Formats: sequence, structure tokens, C-alpha cells
Amino acid sequence: MIVKERSIPIRIQKNEALLRRLPKDHIKRQEIEEDLRKRWAGYRGEQSVDYYLGKLPEKDFLIFHGIRLSNGEYFFQIDTLLLTPYFALILEIKNFSGTLYFDPIFNQWIQTAQTGEKGYPCPIEQANQQKQGLKKWLEARNISIPIDFLVVISKPSTILKTAYGNTPILQKVLHVQFLLDKIQKLKYKETILNYKELKRIARLIVKEHRSETFDILTFYKVLPSELITGVFCSNCISIQMTRCYGNWICPECKQKDPHAHVRAVEDYFLLFNDTPLSNQRFRDFLHLTSPYIANRLLLSMNLPYTGSRKDRLYHSSAAR
Ligand SMILES: [Zn+2]
Repeated sequence: MIVKERSIPIRIQKNEALLRRLPKDHIKRQEIEEDLRKRWAGYRGEQSVDYYLGKLPEKDFLIFHGIRLSNGEYFFQIDTLLLTPYFALILEIKNFSGTLYFDPIFNQWIQTAQTGEKGYPCPIEQANQQKQGLKKWLEARNISIPIDFLVVISKPSTILKTAYGNTPILQKVLHVQFLLDKIQKLKYKETILNYKELKRIARLIVKEHRSETFDILTFYKVLPSELITGVFCSNCISIQMTRCYGNWICPECKQKDPHAHVRAVEDYFLLFNDTPLSNQRFRDFLHLTSPYIANRLLLSMNLPYTGSRKDRLYHSSAAR
């Protein structure tokens, strides 16, 4: 049973929002596009694992995608977590293509693909750190259950190589098509958690999950003044619409869309890392002159707000 669905990672959403709002010739575009391409490939790799996980018996497996929890000292992020009455299993999903060589001496992974050779930190080590993070998190909540992990290579065509006798790799790294078989073979037979306890932990994980916060403008050193503001036409992509008699209208294709401002507000929250919106900031970003219309539009979106009527601040409603 899927308890927490996989959703488009926040970093992808932020990259896309930034690309929508940067001028076509901006110096950072290429770097952002390249990062976005890698992240989409990684996300698609994660999605391809979901097909196999869908075949697991529903009642014995609680599945959580993209969870991020704090164990008091630091946040740890898990691509996919399977919780069963017998054990917890962390899946670290990797979307490598070409040939992968696991170097046991330097503890690194070397990928050889069309683009050349590239080294990566060892995913087994990454997964092991997630395991330690989860162990601490569970212990603090008086839950004790064996935790295992696997590194899943999401492309069946990726060639895996390692030094002779490097057995830890053979036990922990596998191609996605062998995942179900491997899970069935994990020998945990003792029931540790009953149904009620499983439900309790599932509720806790969902409740304590915190999405990644990420200040994309600072990261790419883009100034707010470099962004193209305004409400975009969904048809012409970058053309700015004007508000007229309760509708947004595109001067180019004449498309009407009474809700076009919602996408602009989503972009604002993604780009400004959920900085609350005042009436003034809303007007600046959406190119509105009337505080009265701005107020009406803000209220119509049912955003959570703080502050008194006059200096009210509107917050992002996305559960991030
Ligand atoms: Zn248009």
C-alpha cells in the first residue's frame, strides 16, 4: 500500500519556475537546464521502480516515497522506504547509464558513458547513512525493527562491474528487474510490528516529513531584479496577460483565463523560497495597480494568512 506518493521533486519545480522567469539569453540558463535534465532523469528512474513495487502484496508492505525526516541532529532523505511487519527496507535509486565500476579500494563508483568517465560517491555509503538516520529516528520513538537497504539501478541496460571478490556490492546493489526477487529472499521471518503499530509509524512518518527548502535564487546567484515578473499566458508561454473585467487576457492570442494569477503565485513561492506575500509584493510580481483587486485575488486563493487585515501576509499552501 502506498502511504506517501511520489511527487515531482521540489528542485525540479524550482528549476522550471526559474527557467520560466529568466530572460532567454541569461547566462545561467544552460547550467540550470543541465541540472534540470539530470533531475528529470533521476525522477523517471525512481518512477520506473514503482512499477515493480506495485507488484508487492499490498497488506504486508507500506510504501513511502521521497521522505525527509529529522532525527534531531540532521535531516535524512530516503528515495523509497518499505515498512513491513518484519523489517524496514531503504531503497536508494540510481539512474546511471553506461558502465558502472565499483572501486572497492577507493570506495567510489566510476561511470563510463558516451560523455566520458565520471566518479561518484559510493551509494552504499549514502544508503548506510540513511539507515543510521532512520535507526536513530525510530529509536527516539521507541520503535525497534531491523533496517536493511538496497541500491537499485533503475536502468536494466546499465552494465555493472566490480573487482573480483567484492561481495558487499553483490549483496547490496542490483538491477531494478531483480528487486522483487531480492525482497522476497530477505530472510526476516519474525513478526515485530503488528498492524496497529505499523499504522502508528506510518502516521508519524507522514506527519514528521519535511520537504526540502532550497533558496534557488541564492544558489544560482540570480537577483530578483533579473526575473521576468507578471502573469504569463499558458498558450504563448512567456507573453504577459493583463487583468480586465475579472479576467486575465493575452494581448497576443486573446486567450482569457480568470485563474492565470494562480500559476504566477506558485512561481513566486517557488522562487522566493516560500517568503510570504504582502498585497504590495503580490501587485509588484503580478503587475497589478489596484490594491483592491489584489486583495480580492489573494482572498480567492484561500491561502493561509497571518497578520491583521491591513498588513496581512499570505503563505504558501503547498505542503512542502
Ligand atoms: Zn497568449
